[in-house]
Amino acid sequence: MSHSKPLGHDDVSGFEFAREMLDGNPTAAVNIERIQHHPDKGFIIFEYLKCEQRDDVNPHTSHPSKYWDKNKSKFLSLWRIARALNATLYLVNYADAGTRDSDMILVIEVLDMDENGITRESVTQHTRGSFQQFFRALNTECLGEIPCPLCGSPMVKRKGPKKEFYGCKQFPTTGCTGKIFI
Ligand SMILES: [Zn+2]
Repeated sequence: MSHSKPLGHDDVSGFEFAREMLDGNPTAAVNIERIQHHPDKGFIIFEYLKCEQRDDVNPHTSHPSKYWDKNKSKFLSLWRIARALNATLYLVNYADAGTRDSDMILVIEVLDMDENGITRESVTQHTRGSFQQFFRALNTECLGEIPCPLCGSPMVKRKGPKKEFYGCKQFPTTGCTGKIFI
């Protein structure tokens, strides 16, 4: 595998450029917050739904069905794109770090949707820590063959005393200690 430049971190300047170019016209586009390709699962789309701190709702109890009419064109567009790509669509309820509900995250995997709402779904409640673990593991799997951060050799999955990690394949021969924790 050739070692291309790693993908950049999240950057919103492209959205701002498009908005400037539209100069006030309504957009026909839908912004996808995150799309990545997994070697086994295919494309995965993430849409993050931020919950403001309110007494009557938190990330574990909020659901697009509660504000469907307001946002349905976005959800329907995302679902159409997911279907066209045969992708997995995850809607993720979260709250900002440091707020009351920051430790509650809900992952809604959309299995079917129609004009009136999500009709089939698989829902998983997470803590911030367990979501991070799920998210990082998925991301690492999507990277495919990962180069060692120290020597650039491929890395292999290994089991540590506490958790799995990727270690440098060259470790037995060169003693390279390059590691990436999942
Ligand atoms: Zn190495």
